[in-house]
Amino acid sequence: MTMTSASIRRAFLDYFASKQHQIVPSSSLIPGNDATLLFTNAGMVQFKDVFLGQDQRNYNRAVSAQRCVRAGGKHNDLENVGYTARHHTFFEMLGNFSFGDYFKQEAIAYAWEFLTSVVKLPKEKLWVTVYETDDEAYNIWLKDVGVPAERIIRIGDNKGAPYASDNFWAMGDTGPCGPCTEIFYDHGAHIWGGPPGSAEEDGDRYIEIWNIVFMQFNRHSDGRMEQLPKPSVDTGMGLERIAAILQNVHSNYEIDIFVALINAAAEATGAQDLTDKSLRVVADHIRSCSFLIVDGVQPSNEGRGYVLRRIVRRAVRHGNKLGAKGAFFYKLVAALVSQMGEAYPELAEKQAVIEKILKLEEDQFGKTLERGLAILEEALTEIEGTELPGELVFKLYDTYGFPVDLTNDVARERNYTIDQAGFDAAMAQQRKRAQQASNFGADYNASLSSNQHTEFTGYQHEFGNAVVLEILHD
Ligand code: ATP
Ligand code: MG
Ligand code: MG
Ligand code: MG
Repeated sequence: MTMTSASIRRAFLDYFASKQHQIVPSSSLIPGNDATLLFTNAGMVQFKDVFLGQDQRNYNRAVSAQRCVRAGGKHNDLENVGYTARHHTFFEMLGNFSFGDYFKQEAIAYAWEFLTSVVKLPKEKLWVTVYETDDEAYNIWLKDVGVPAERIIRIGDNKGAPYASDNFWAMGDTGPCGPCTEIFYDHGAHIWGGPPGSAEEDGDRYIEIWNIVFMQFNRHSDGRMEQLPKPSVDTGMGLERIAAILQNVHSNYEIDIFVALINAAAEATGAQDLTDKSLRVVADHIRSCSFLIVDGVQPSNEGRGYVLRRIVRRAVRHGNKLGAKGAFFYKLVAALVSQMGEAYPELAEKQAVIEKILKLEEDQFGKTLERGLAILEEALTEIEGTELPGELVFKLYDTYGFPVDLTNDVARERNYTIDQAGFDAAMAQQRKRAQQASNFGADYNASLSSNQHTEFTGYQHEFGNAVVLEILHD
């Protein structure tokens, strides 16, 4: 069955609406009233307080297609982009939710019906995982749904492993969480990878498509797990991943939306090889950057604005690698609007603003990019070993505006690593100097206040602040 991304989104919303779910529009990428979260990273974020029992809606079943960004905080996929077939910084999460209404039985039955009857995936290609001690979910899959035992895998909570499955889902370090059951699709033996829980899981043969979370706890900052007032359900399926299956391709980057964006990126940069990894990176990044701007983020040196700046700079670096001459990134907004403007009218409305902000940011970074890259190239040929010294990483950051992840991205392409501890030390030094200088500036300013002829702006370093440091450590 071949379906466009737009028609899959529609089919999902319609299916759950037919099961008495309220269709709720996507919320902003900037979580309202939630200081614990950098960006909306899942469909459940706008319902967090409902799960916690602190907010009530006039419905107890909901369905949404939620825009998400995973480029910072607990769920950070920035480093995966360009390397896996399935990760984006920006993606859409299709989700159905039960607020104290249905639980495991129905949640599993709905997901199975949607996949095998509505969009008609072949059953034999689907694998499932359950939380290691969740016999109830295991038996529903085995006895009610009829999935053979060899395709049901029990998995525990896998702390810290970057790709490995983890069947205990949490929005962040605190907040609603619970055991989950996940559905995987086998893309076939021609692709490297093993089933979930195996040593080859990191490959992209078996791709996770849908996570069904049984929301049962609220985790507090001291680690305490409190039972939620009512057991609930939160699910999330990546639109791009299900679209890849339904469009008979393996990688998310081959679906309709991405083909259009990659073509636009090739045109804007002059790239010839449409399979170039940098084209995928650029196509990915135009989505996160544009949608972050739609939701009010502006490039800056701290907090969310610095994440946006980092992504733009990374895109500009990849564009440069593809041969772009001058600003090119902002030119991709038009292609994005034609792909997604209908589903997200706010994107179409703000096209001109997005283009302007991106162009400004590109022009600014373009001034130092080439020089910084030349220094980096030179260093790569000269240093001994395979680690870039922290001092150099800091110099690129401080003088040329290279976010650390950008330097790391270049380093990784050549099998180098960076000396993060050395960078941190140089950064700490810088902050200390800035602190001293600004203390001095304050006194100096005060002593000048009677002298109207002299203006002293004080020492203000472009990148010296704590928030940036925190984000760099994600
Ligand atoms: P993975 O293990 O592949 O990194 P995940 O377990 O981190 O995925 P969840 O937090 O369970 O993902 O999110 C629910 C669903 O959202 C996933 O099953 C997947 O379909 C989709 N998804 C998650 N992260 C991404 C991403 N970075 N890009 C595209 N889709 C994603
Ligand atoms: Mg992940
Ligand atoms: Mg996973
Ligand atoms: Mg998952």
